[in-house]
Amino acid sequence: MKCDVLVVGASPAGLMAAISAAKGGAEVILLEKDLAGLDHTANTLFEGMAAASGVKVEDCYLMKELEGMRIISPSGKGASIPAKGYFIDRKKFDEHYLDLAQSSGVTLLAAAAKKSRLQGSRRTVSLNEDEIEAKVVVDASGVSSSLAGQAGLKAMRHPEDIAWAMEADIEHPGLGEEMFFQYWIGSMAPGWKATFSPAGGDRATLGVFVRGQGQNVQPYFRKFLKLFKAYKASQYRDIEMMKILSVRRGGDPICVLPGEIVADSLMVTGGAAGQSGLAYSMRAGTICGSVAGEAALAGDVSRQALSRYEQLWKREFYWQYRMGRASLQTLSMMKDAEIDRLVHGLSGKRLVSDGSFAQKAAYAAGIVLLSRPRTVLDLAMNLMRG
Ligand SMILES: Cc1cc2nc3c(=O)[nH]c(=O)nc-3n(C[C@H](O)[C@H](O)[C@H](O)COP(=O)(O)OP(=O)(O)OC[C@H]3O[C@@H](n4cnc5c(N)ncnc54)[C@H](O)[C@@H]3O)c2cc1C
Repeated sequence: MKCDVLVVGASPAGLMAAISAAKGGAEVILLEKDLAGLDHTANTLFEGMAAASGVKVEDCYLMKELEGMRIISPSGKGASIPAKGYFIDRKKFDEHYLDLAQSSGVTLLAAAAKKSRLQGSRRTVSLNEDEIEAKVVVDASGVSSSLAGQAGLKAMRHPEDIAWAMEADIEHPGLGEEMFFQYWIGSMAPGWKATFSPAGGDRATLGVFVRGQGQNVQPYFRKFLKLFKAYKASQYRDIEMMKILSVRRGGDPICVLPGEIVADSLMVTGGAAGQSGLAYSMRAGTICGSVAGEAALAGDVSRQALSRYEQLWKREFYWQYRMGRASLQTLSMMKDAEIDRLVHGLSGKRLVSDGSFAQKAAYAAGIVLLSRPRTVLDLAMNLMRG
């Protein structure tokens, strides 16, 4: 088999890479090892991220609109941040973009990529029995990808900081009717952070994210489950009877930065490149696919030609990712009492509702400084470390 662009992995980045390369006129194959039974993690996104990434949330996969995010400190205090959010039906989301890929002319193939090798100016990817020869291979196969590494690329900086996670679908009367995504930090979230996302009706998801402790998240999940039930006990009768319907596992590169993401006739995108988040990785995939398609059609798939993807991505996102990593590293250095003071200071509506952007920024900076005077210094150090 031959094609212009071979995308490996129907991740959000892979789907968008395939769609944008095909829309540019390239002949595209999208390879997915679990095509018949996709069961991906990640179901919540917020308007700000979606808008910055050019992602329009479609009705066909939207399950529930959220009113914002609530950050909960170790003592149980919460700061609510109004922001339009979306809980999506992840199976319908994947189906929607797979349909879009097919109607854009992408050929879907259910198979796993084993190895890739460079032959002249093309790359050959071996499957179980076949091989596919492509002008450009896009590796969008997630945090556990091996293709980039085989080609000698270190596609992520700080891969040791991947947060290994468990996401559970849960059910309890009325639990999904809450309107805020909830986010625990400090000792309320054993392992690092924990999340609750209401899906409507009786359904919601719980996520537990663990850093620096290996990939076995189960013990942290069990601990958080107890804390979660205790936290919700006053709101829900019989919360002890809450059902866990299913569980998914994965790695979130939220604290990771992209590293070497292009080589001759190879590009890396999405989680495989340390580009975390549904909306952001869709945008990264879109940029990647359009550069891949143009390069393949122009007949120059050298590293230099493909680095246009890296330049365009950096222009839009590099500082956001760097700032995000530095902030999360700084937050994880804070003690429970400091997090409590921070959340207490942030609670109330003033932060987002009143005043100009500059006033809000000054207000937030003041709260952060009062809760922990070393924060600005730590943030600067973490930012410089990159
Ligand atoms: C538990 C959890 C919850 C999260 N929740 C959110 C959230 O609510 N909102 C948000 O914005 N982000 C969330 N994230 C982050 C988000 O999931 C990822 O950043 C984003 O979905 C990007 O996914 P990915 O690129 O890592 O690819 P993945 O979603 O891992 O997809 C990779 C695909 O490649 C396929 N594949 C792998 N190897 C091969 C191969 N050799 N050949 C063929 N196919 C292959 C896999 O089957 C899979 O379909 C969450 C992450 C985790 C772990």
